[in-house]
Amino acid sequence: MHIGVYCASSNHVADRFIDEAEVLGRLIAERNDTLVYGGGQVGLMDVVARSVHEHGGTVIGAIPQALKDREGIAYGIADELHVTETMQQRKAIIFTRADAFIVLPGGFGTLEELTEVLTLRQLGYHDKPIAVVNVGGFYDPLIELFEHFFDQRMAHERYRGLYRVVDSSAAALNYIHETRSRAKAV
Ligand code: AMP
Repeated sequence: MHIGVYCASSNHVADRFIDEAEVLGRLIAERNDTLVYGGGQVGLMDVVARSVHEHGGTVIGAIPQALKDREGIAYGIADELHVTETMQQRKAIIFTRADAFIVLPGGFGTLEELTEVLTLRQLGYHDKPIAVVNVGGFYDPLIELFEHFFDQRMAHERYRGLYRVVDSSAAALNYIHETRSRAKAV
C-alpha cells in the first residue's frame, strides 16, 4: 500500500517522537508499503523517510518549489520527488497517491493535513483509512476537542468512524491493512 504520512517539520521535538517516527519508517519498509509524504528533510518527516530507506523501502515525496528553493530542504534521495508550483498541488499529490493516512505528532501543518483528509472523507470524496498515532498522549487535547464536537452535535456520531486513534505505529499499520482487507473482501 501507499501510506501518506503527515508529521512534524520541527527538529526540536522529544526523543519519544523521533523514536516513533523511526519505527514507523521501519514498519512501512518491512511491510513492503511505500511512503508518500511532504518531501522535506526536516523534523519527523526526515526521520520517517530515512528510516524507510534504511530498511530497504520506497519513498515518494512532494514538495513545492518555493519551499525547496528557500530552505533547500527537499529530501533529494527520494525514489520519486515531485516538485510542485503550489502547496495545494503538493497536498493533492500526497492525497491522490496515498491509499491510507497515518498522522504522527506535528504542529499546524500536520493539523491542517489531518483535518483536510478528515473533511474530505466526511464529505465522501474518499474512503481511505486515517490513523492518528497518539504517541504518549500527544493528541489527547485534540481528541478532547473532537469529543466536544460530538457532544455539541457539531459533528454527527457516525463521523467517529472517520478516523482511528491508536497508540503506536504498529497499531496504525494493522488498522490500515485490516480495513483494506475487509474492503477487498466485500
Ligand atoms: P508542521 O506540523 O507545522 O511541522 O508541518 C508539517 C507538515 O506540513 C508535514 O506533514 C508536511 O507535509 C508539511 N510541511 C511543513 N513544513 C514543511 C517543510 N519545511 N517541508 C516540507 N513539508 C513541510
